[in-house]
Amino acid sequence: YHVSMDALASLCKRRGFIFQTSEIYGGINGFWDYGPLGVELKRNIKESWWKSVVQTRENVVGLDSSIIMHPRVWEASGHVGNFKDPMLDCRETKGRYRADQILVFKHKSNAATLMFAYPEDEEPPRKKVKKMGKQNPDEYEIVPLLDIPVENYDRLVGPDASEAGTLTEPRAFNLMFKTHVGPVEENAAVAWLRPETAQGIFAQFGNVHAVSRQKIPFGIAQIGKAFRNEINPRNYTFRSREFEQMELEYFIKPGTDAEQHEYWVSERLKWYERVGLPEGRMHRDIHEGDALAHYASACTDIMYDFPFGTQELEGIAARGNFDLTQHQNTSGKGLEYYDEETKERYLPHVVEPSAGVDRIALALLCEAYRVEWIPKDGGEVLTADPDAKRAPEGYEARTVLRFAPSIAPYKVAVFPLLKNKEELVGKAREVFEQLNERWNCFYDQAGAIGRRYRRQDEIGTPLGVTIDFDTLEDDTVTVRDRDTMEQVRMPISELEAYVAEKVRF
Ligand code: ATP
Repeated sequence: YHVSMDALASLCKRRGFIFQTSEIYGGINGFWDYGPLGVELKRNIKESWWKSVVQTRENVVGLDSSIIMHPRVWEASGHVGNFKDPMLDCRETKGRYRADQILVFKHKSNAATLMFAYPEDEEPPRKKVKKMGKQNPDEYEIVPLLDIPVENYDRLVGPDASEAGTLTEPRAFNLMFKTHVGPVEENAAVAWLRPETAQGIFAQFGNVHAVSRQKIPFGIAQIGKAFRNEINPRNYTFRSREFEQMELEYFIKPGTDAEQHEYWVSERLKWYERVGLPEGRMHRDIHEGDALAHYASACTDIMYDFPFGTQELEGIAARGNFDLTQHQNTSGKGLEYYDEETKERYLPHVVEPSAGVDRIALALLCEAYRVEWIPKDGGEVLTADPDAKRAPEGYEARTVLRFAPSIAPYKVAVFPLLKNKEELVGKAREVFEQLNERWNCFYDQAGAIGRRYRRQDEIGTPLGVTIDFDTLEDDTVTVRDRDTMEQVRMPISELEAYVAEKVRF
């Protein structure tokens, strides 16, 4: 990997992609703000998804449902009863953990020795085992905490504690944020912040179907905020308590589930490649047996190799007609579809691709980040050694975000060669204003031209246009490519077509 999460977080803060929320008050765990560049990146991700899933398909329509819905929606969906994670506390440090994400270092033969617990995405505490137990770590095995009988908890040492017996028993914790609607805080007024956007689609299935006059198969898509009171938010923005989802419910004829599921998995993988996540870093995690919900016939998670491990970006599930059945039964309103060709009436099945905007933004940032060593006198560009403090003799370091041009926050940066030459500045403003009508562009006249290029490299702007003295003579400009750093000369009249081709979705 080219990036440590610390280096990435530091760039994101310095350049205005991501800030800790309400930072001036010390922040609040699991919540993030997107700065001027982050908001553009996220908009481009959402726009690309919307285009690929909704606008270029005649049989998919959009919806924007409210975040707070009737509480019975969440009874019907099963979220009030079942949307729970097992949680446990550390008695000593008061730290809180998801029990299903804790692993335990356990002695293979001596059942009476201490057992060390640690979160699954951290390094196993071999050193700690060696020191405290004075044992050879190879005599230990690693098992999930939930496999340890509760009566043995008194021998467990928690992740940040030194005392045995520091972990409480796991208990179920509902992840939905609870609030009240109206001026009285009584039980009858309890409402929930949605933990997914999908249920808004199912609850409006009847209305949307009636107005859109679609025939099966057809889809309803939605992008919006979702809220989960995650027990431990971690890995930067990867697991947050407020995040954005992009969800499609694709309603299909029962019996076509397997083929439609496979179709959407491959469609979505193509999209990931287009926005800049290479096939080699993407994986399918196919759920089988116990890992599959009882109503689902298939579920594939789309995974990406993050620097902190291979993790889910999107889940694609064939959910049968579980959700529509639940809402029909709970609301008493008929949600059946009438098939005019076969004269049959049925509850459609559904395939649900459900993706997280924030996780995709993070993956794109991880993927795009590079530090390169540029030879001062020409020659081959080197990928920097991440552990080196500075570039070797004769080289200069540059940080570059190699975003796919279609999702880069700014598409073009425009520079007058010198800021104190009125004709250059006037011409540069003219070019900037022309391009900025169509794309998000950046104008910069401060400092040496090389430094201005570097500033744009660091935020991933794919093209730089420089207006120099020749421009005033012949109306041509220099266009610099972020990745190759090569420059071409072209007439201003060809600029728009050139940029359009480069930044196409
Ligand atoms: P995980 O197992 O990682 O908690 P999940 O399987 O519960 O995720 P889904 O319920 O399938 O997630 O939600 C669909 C998508 O929404 C996920 O693939 C992810 O991109 C996004 N998402 C879910 N929870 C979070 C979160 N806490 N922070 C950011 N994105 C999330």
